[in-house]
Amino acid sequence: MAKIISGKEIAANIKQQIKAETETLPQKPGLAVVIVGDDPASHVYVKNKRKDCEEVGFLSEEYALPAQTSQQELLALIDQLNHRADINGILIQLPLPKHCNEKAVLEAVLPIKDVDAFHPANVGRIMIGDYHFLPCTPAGVMEMLDHAGVEIDGKHCVVVGRSNIVGKPMAMLLLHKNGTVTICHSRTKNLAEFCRSADILVAAVGQAGFITADMVKNGAVVIDVGMNRGVDGKLCGDVAYEEVAAKASFVTPVPGGVGPMTRAMLLKNTLTAAKLQNALK
Ligand code: NDP
Repeated sequence: MAKIISGKEIAANIKQQIKAETETLPQKPGLAVVIVGDDPASHVYVKNKRKDCEEVGFLSEEYALPAQTSQQELLALIDQLNHRADINGILIQLPLPKHCNEKAVLEAVLPIKDVDAFHPANVGRIMIGDYHFLPCTPAGVMEMLDHAGVEIDGKHCVVVGRSNIVGKPMAMLLLHKNGTVTICHSRTKNLAEFCRSADILVAAVGQAGFITADMVKNGAVVIDVGMNRGVDGKLCGDVAYEEVAAKASFVTPVPGGVGPMTRAMLLKNTLTAAKLQNALK
């Protein structure tokens, strides 16, 4: 039976450390979260981010804008936040309404305040391994692997999913740690075969129960990034948890796995941003 890597526990420790470090700073780190429209799931994420900030003693500001907000108004707000000394991190909650150009909006955030690490300047830095911030979800997964003592060097790592926010950076971080990385996606042929050859398997697909036990090698490490609603309406991952846990050496649960780590990494990035910006002054 697999050991469970509890993101909830690791994240709680990380938050403790961040809180302790924050208390030593002359000025508390500040995070601004901008949300446009009324997507209920996005509003829950934003509420959680505010709660996390309060827990560790950060300044937290929320800008909830109506769905009809123009791109120009949004860019003007980002410009203001870019110039604020007390705001160290700016997070644009995605998705944005269709009339907004997501790329232009994300690029308007100063790279040094881009705590999601979505700006092309930060993406490029990650590619060459010289970065200030890592995207929160892949960074959280790396912390979990490290905490569990999972060796990556020389291991075959298979990442299922190639999105810009999870799959691609995840693959890059595993590569930086000398994993031999395969990225699978919806056009991959023989996907199950690739998965079965993985020492470390990361599922970031967005389909409940996608990874079944027959796709997992005995003793593999299985990381479940997925956040889906099952037929019963409950939160579940991409991995058929019970059957895969019977075969894997380590597994991450949903809820209580990668999700809390993603939130903790946002706080870590905001703290890093505050330290960088204060050193620059
Ligand atoms: P995207 O929808 O952007 O990407 C999904 C990826 O899965 C795509 O690359 C797609 O391939 C691939 N895929 C879809 N269907 C198949 C298939 N049948 N076979 C193989 N590959 C397939 O999702 P995200 O990367 O944003 O998120 C993935 C999951 O992770 C979601 O459940 C999301 O909710 C969750 N998530 C969880 C976070 C957390 O904190 N725990 C944070 C962010 C996301 P292709 O590119 O070919 O279309």
